[in-house]
Amino acid sequence: MPEQTLTIALSKGRIYKDTLPLLAQAGIEPRDDPETSRKLILDTNRDDVKLVVIRATDVPTYVQYGAADVGVSGKDVLMEHGGEGLYEPLDLNIARCRLMVAGRPEAASLSGRLRVATKFVNITRRYYAEQGKQVEIIKLYGSMELAPLVGLADAIVDLVDTGNTLKANGLVPLEHIADISSRLVVNKAAMKMKSAWVKRLLKDLEAAVQAQAAQCRQ
Ligand code: AMP
Repeated sequence: MPEQTLTIALSKGRIYKDTLPLLAQAGIEPRDDPETSRKLILDTNRDDVKLVVIRATDVPTYVQYGAADVGVSGKDVLMEHGGEGLYEPLDLNIARCRLMVAGRPEAASLSGRLRVATKFVNITRRYYAEQGKQVEIIKLYGSMELAPLVGLADAIVDLVDTGNTLKANGLVPLEHIADISSRLVVNKAAMKMKSAWVKRLLKDLEAAVQAQAAQCRQ
């Protein structure tokens, strides 16, 4: 990306929706709606700022390699990616949820080697290794809640927000792995080469996050 442009990587859906008001407070507004436009690079009201809208799991990779200067990524995705080549200077306090082990109620008392289904393979491997527990990890790409219902796994590692999806499928939260929210991530080279720009964005977003928190307290 040219040096005179700041490229921000976002993912569609909740992160995009929740990031927009924060970007607006920083004076950045997209000209196209990613839900209706087929464009992958979105123009904004500022000629020097572009948005790329990509899959959530690709955001750290785009930022790591400098294809985007900054990005917004869930802590779950960052933990899974490993965070290499990235700074993570700001918690945007959006898209909050918990990363949990869940399963049927009886899974809590199972002994022996558990089978755990998840899309968060690296996090799950680390989590159980730290506890010295041997588990078999089954990689899935979605609908993790189904796995214990059809005997594919004893437990799952997934994001839980209201807990309604677990409840609707007869599952219960068993262990809390981490609190999750979306973070601003910055490419390490961009932090140096575009430092004034990145710092300004950081300051504006920090103020927007604080204003939003103050509004929530009222
Ligand atoms: P809930 O029923 O509100 O607990 O939401 C659980 C479902 O929504 C699961 O399928 C999760 O993978 C997904 N989910 C919850 N929070 C988030 C989040 N912040 N980002 C992405 N997916 C989420």
